[in-house]
Amino acid sequence: MALLSKETKKLIKKLEQAYVVCYDCGSKYGVHSVGCSSIWIDKCDVCDEKKPVTEARDYAYLITGIRKLTLGEEIK
Ligand SMILES: [Zn+2]
Repeated sequence: MALLSKETKKLIKKLEQAYVVCYDCGSKYGVHSVGCSSIWIDKCDVCDEKKPVTEARDYAYLITGIRKLTLGEEIK
């Protein structure tokens, strides 16, 4: 088990609890699943910016990012 920094743990928690994400965070931490997702302007649960967002579900709940962070991998 990798030793995780406080910031990383915080980010993992954020990703786990995110309900809506913007395109940038979604493509950074998740994988976009094909489908007709609705997009609206709201605060992204990950970066806290007001942006066009969609449901975290459409990015496979950001599970890719959560896994990578948990393993101590860097996400660029
Ligand atoms: Zn975001």
